[in-house]
Amino acid sequence: MPGDDTAMTCATCGRSVPSDDSAVLLTWARAMENGRPVWTCDVCSRTHLRSIEAKLDATWW
Ligand SMILES: [Zn+2]
Repeated sequence: MPGDDTAMTCATCGRSVPSDDSAVLLTWARAMENGRPVWTCDVCSRTHLRSIEAKLDATWW
């Protein structure tokens, strides 16, 4: 079924959304990990931002 591959899943909380949602593309953060794109949703981005500012912890990533 076409479209299955276009879903974006948050690597942190597992939330999944269709990648053709422009609001999602604006608010989700993409990182590259082992050559693969890793998506982080807006909520987790904020959570991580806070934890990064509080304490740099590599195990989060
Ligand atoms: Zn998330």
